[in-house]
Amino acid sequence: MVTAFQVPITADKIKSKARELGADIVGIADGAAMNANPPDIEDPRRPSDITDHDAGRVIVIGQRVSLGATRIVDWSDRHKYVNDELTIASLEEIALDMVRWLERDGYPALIVPPTHVDPWRYDGDPSPHQKLPLSLDHAAVEAGLGTLGLNLQLLTPEFGPRVILTAVLSSVPVEADSRMEQPLCRGPECGRCLSTCPGDAVGLWKRDWVACDTYRQPHGFKQVTEFLGEVIDETDPETQKAMLRNEKSFHIWASILRGAGAVTGCRRCQDVCPVGEDYEFMLKDAMDHIPEDTEVKQQRLEQLRAEQSAGRRGPGYDAQKRWIGS
Ligand code: SF4
Ligand code: SF4
Repeated sequence: MVTAFQVPITADKIKSKARELGADIVGIADGAAMNANPPDIEDPRRPSDITDHDAGRVIVIGQRVSLGATRIVDWSDRHKYVNDELTIASLEEIALDMVRWLERDGYPALIVPPTHVDPWRYDGDPSPHQKLPLSLDHAAVEAGLGTLGLNLQLLTPEFGPRVILTAVLSSVPVEADSRMEQPLCRGPECGRCLSTCPGDAVGLWKRDWVACDTYRQPHGFKQVTEFLGEVIDETDPETQKAMLRNEKSFHIWASILRGAGAVTGCRRCQDVCPVGEDYEFMLKDAMDHIPEDTEVKQQRLEQLRAEQSAGRRGPGYDAQKRWIGS
């Protein structure tokens, strides 16, 4: 590349631009550090797997979700899905404007959005958890924006886990941020993400992603294929027609229309997490009580607390401690 045409740039300038465009949080991760430390060694998804040339820095940009939607307690309320999808749309514009701005000054860039799943990796079975080409939560930790929580969600000092992320890759010659060393998560002593989870997906520093996806993407690709299969298998034409007009098909149509319910869905673990400057003043009154909590969940939390107190944090922690903190 001809660097003579590049306008001098700094990390502060990049962050100011992102904030000017509407970002609530922004940090810069070192692509080489991310290449050397993939979150899953069995299935490494590194910046260098996306581009050979332009992943020297991973600029992680986040916007907070709306607190009014957060304060709706029912995880499956469509207002929540739609509000989050609008936040994703806003992030897409910010990321695209960042790419144009960087490229105008001589730095090629590309976006890793929060909704992109690589179809080349799909093997014909919609059941397994579909991962992004790059874990944005891990990238955010590398960019100094927060640490991972009990269920491996990103927690930030400002908004706890109530953020949606995107990333811009570019080999801009600016300083990268450092990771936080202190964990923000209060661990099983808190355990509110486990108490609220409708999918019983939260463990000790791990998440059952397949169980979570049923709620996190309630009208996603798996549900669409299941529904179409049921319609095809129905032998009575009248019942078949009625199925095309039922609530399931309505949800699928609405999800395909905007992605709400397909790429957004349950986020109760984010809603009830007490980490974040926003919680005490804007959320506590509506979120303090967790109606989904049960005796069985409390017993499981007690077990996790005992494990943690005995110094047995489990393989989930060992694999993720770089991002959870210690
Ligand atoms: S998104 Fe919903 S289902 Fe998934 S871990 Fe959080 S609370 Fe549980
Ligand atoms: S709800 Fe509590 S345990 Fe769960 S991530 Fe937040 S601080 Fe950690």
